[in-house]
Amino acid sequence: MEPVSGEDSSLGVVSSGERQRPESETEPGSLALPATPKPDGWRGFGRALRDLVFPPSCVHCGGLVETSPLRHVCAACEPLIVRVESPHCPCCGHPFFGDTEGERLCVHCEGLRPEFGEGKTAVLFKGPARALVHALKYRHGLHVLEDIATLVSAHAEFAAFVRGAVLVPVPLHPRKQRERGYNQARLLAETVVKAVGGEGTRVEELLCRVADTQTQTNLDREQRRANLKNAFALAPGAAITESQSYILIDDVFTTGSTLNACAGVLRRAGGLKVNVVTFGHG
Ligand SMILES: [Zn+2]
Ligand SMILES: [Zn+2]
Repeated sequence: MEPVSGEDSSLGVVSSGERQRPESETEPGSLALPATPKPDGWRGFGRALRDLVFPPSCVHCGGLVETSPLRHVCAACEPLIVRVESPHCPCCGHPFFGDTEGERLCVHCEGLRPEFGEGKTAVLFKGPARALVHALKYRHGLHVLEDIATLVSAHAEFAAFVRGAVLVPVPLHPRKQRERGYNQARLLAETVVKAVGGEGTRVEELLCRVADTQTQTNLDREQRRANLKNAFALAPGAAITESQSYILIDDVFTTGSTLNACAGVLRRAGGLKVNVVTFGHG
């Protein structure tokens, strides 16, 4: 798996020295690396150097991250991340606990009338996973994408579902994107594409947000539906191919209203295979 830090470095988040490359290609001004590192020592060296500059602290408890499989969640908090496995709701991916007889939707999806086919989520949106998303979304923590990549690439069902599809990020309104500086759904999509690989897996920004909707937090499902009606449109120049598999992607599945409104646009534009994925389920 390629680390996402190559992307991050262009955003000024992660230092250089991560990728292995001949010295002759080293750009002026980049970090001076030792002349004879071990062949597999570059990554470790880059990480050690980065850890010196940015001592890794856990996004969940604030403790030092030392022996954890993740870089921004410590070894004590990492096991608290709940990976979602089957059986789960076919619509939103929320896990079913206990009795799972027959096809049915979970409580989150009752009344949703989904415009998309299937949905999957990688983790439950709580504890350290929630802290990762909050860091990404509200604290400009683009460095946590590295851990999201690790979690997604290790999730076989999620990765297989996404492989080969066009990932369509849920768009932000231009005003909001200016405020935040980036669309976290787009960064997540790029991270997932790199993490899962596969021929044809790519990101296309096919949608735009045309209405600057008020916050959805205190609205019920019908109010959300009304609020989001006509909020999304096909991006200028976007073309939808009937045979192509499209997967809408967002950071968190909450009520599904936003993803559903986006799926409706792709469907009306001729998309026949429209599914959704989220990193977390709230
Ligand atoms: Zn911790
Ligand atoms: Zn569901």
